[in-house]
Amino acid sequence: MGLEQTTLGGSISIAGIGVHSGAPVRITLFPAPAGNGIQFRRINLPNGASRTLRAHVDHVGDTQLCTVLGDAEQGQVSTVEHLMAALRGLGVDNAVISIDGSEMPIMDGSARPFVEAIEAVGTVKLSAPKSVLKVLKPVRVEQGRAWAELLPHSKGFRLDVQIEFENPVIGRQAIVLDLTPKTFRRELAHARTFGFMKDFEKLSAIGLAKGSSLDNTVVLDDEQVLNPGGLRGKDEFVRHKAMDAVGDLALAGLPIQGLFRSYCGGHKMNVSVVRALYADPTAWTVETPVPARAAGEFLPALQPAFSPDMN
Ligand SMILES: [Zn+2]
Repeated sequence: MGLEQTTLGGSISIAGIGVHSGAPVRITLFPAPAGNGIQFRRINLPNGASRTLRAHVDHVGDTQLCTVLGDAEQGQVSTVEHLMAALRGLGVDNAVISIDGSEMPIMDGSARPFVEAIEAVGTVKLSAPKSVLKVLKPVRVEQGRAWAELLPHSKGFRLDVQIEFENPVIGRQAIVLDLTPKTFRRELAHARTFGFMKDFEKLSAIGLAKGSSLDNTVVLDDEQVLNPGGLRGKDEFVRHKAMDAVGDLALAGLPIQGLFRSYCGGHKMNVSVVRALYADPTAWTVETPVPARAAGEFLPALQPAFSPDMN
């Protein structure tokens, strides 16, 4: 990854359905200037209005089944994590995503269709340095046996994710990965959402998972995967959890320099650990590297400040 911020090389539209609403939805990804970050623009609200939501933990509402930005009253966008993962995974710092419904398209349940869309337009560098959110002190959140931590790390962003399910198809799975566009594409992008038949029955009884199908979810009963095509690898489950974490942690608003560890985590833990980090001002700092090439460019601009004429 370079030292400059990036955005998309062009705009691209994607259509699909929401996994919970079952509603058709169209999103368009637009390039955005340096410093913009990732923003969702909810269009087509009932009163014809639109609402812009910054992809940031401060704007996260619900995290029960997926990660939701905003709220139902004023306009929300739910299930942002897979697109957020693709953007962060490929190192896209700035983009605006317009969406004409309240739930992101689930596609095939993985981040791969978003990766392909982003790669179709490519990314471009912007003439502004890329800041990182550097973890200075460990922070940890716990809930029951589940926990998540952010720890200082010498370089880049490392994930160390573990899950443990009673279901024998999943069992105990773990992955450790240094996040780069290459590792994201190769190791995490393809891993699909998974769910259990018994939960699916409960969710459909309360009007959720309406768009859920074997085309976008790995479905398990007590002893097997029900999808005719099987798994995209035995540890697809933990890879999906790691991909979710990349997307949820992207809601820090900046790339994190640190080590993320989690055990039996999920959206709630992921968002909580970022909030815990921000809650302790001594636990983090924002570092903006001065690119070597730009250093020379900055010098003439700085010189007048030191010249006698200025005093
Ligand atoms: Zn997910």
